[in-house]
Amino acid sequence: MDMRLVGKKALVTGGSVGIGLAVSRELAKEGMDVAIFARNGERAKTEAERIHHEFGVNSYGISCDVTKPQDIEQAMKEVLATIGTVDVLVNNAGTGSEETIMEATDEKWQYYWDLHVMAAIRLSRACIPLMKKQHGGVIIQTASICAKQPLYYEPIYNTTKAALVMFGKCLSHEVIGDGIRVVTVSPGLVLTPDWYKTAGILSQKEGITAEAYLDRLAKEFAPIGRFATPEEVAKFYAFIASPNASYSVGSNYSIDGGWLRVID
Ligand code: NDP
Repeated sequence: MDMRLVGKKALVTGGSVGIGLAVSRELAKEGMDVAIFARNGERAKTEAERIHHEFGVNSYGISCDVTKPQDIEQAMKEVLATIGTVDVLVNNAGTGSEETIMEATDEKWQYYWDLHVMAAIRLSRACIPLMKKQHGGVIIQTASICAKQPLYYEPIYNTTKAALVMFGKCLSHEVIGDGIRVVTVSPGLVLTPDWYKTAGILSQKEGITAEAYLDRLAKEFAPIGRFATPEEVAKFYAFIASPNASYSVGSNYSIDGGWLRVID
């Protein structure tokens, strides 16, 4: 399928590894120039260079902690100076948590609120004027199955991802008149390097391999019986980003191998 994305410009937060990297690569494969935000600017630059060499598009890694408004402001200047504008914004940076509501500090709640919600708000506010100028654009959020079906060890993650889904819905209503589509993707288990790290630690306690730990987890949670690869999730993002998905507005799509236990 021709995704009709050649020559367009994408900004992907958390694009240096995992789902964000796979999305950046998939969009580049479709001919888009890509800017990648991550705190570790060196890793972002390395991956951006690899993308440039592999796919022949312009690609830039930019250091940005998306929880910090001043970082976003500075990084957006770099976006304008490099890829020039943004047609597709992917608000993807995020991470899991572990706490109880009774014990978590206000600071921890605030950090995750800034990471999962305020970053998407601030970046949308920065990109929407650019999109309006070119009469359209797409904003994609990476939420999580946990926005609907909580994992009880991470209440802060569940709560902030649920808020992100609602933010996307409200924003979609506000900007569709300007030709800007806002859509959310809610993955289930996606096998990123971080999962290997976690499994490496937890499996040792049980005397099993990381692979056996991950396999058991997948079979327990996902009816499909396995993790998704970042690449197969990324193909979904490319479709959502494409004009081929032109009637998709304000939706939150599960991509979870059947893990969600209710109908949407
Ligand atoms: P990874 O941990 O593999 O990658 C996270 C990315 O976000 C990295 O590029 C990291 O770079 C960046 N990042 C983290 N914090 C910040 C910050 N404060 N500012 C800027 N960049 C930041 O994550 P995944 O690929 O697993 O997850 C990506 C998204 O998908 C997240 O929002 C996650 O919640 C969601 N998700 C993941 C699932 C999974 O199973 N993997 C399932 C459901 C949802 P750096 O450290 O250099 O900043």
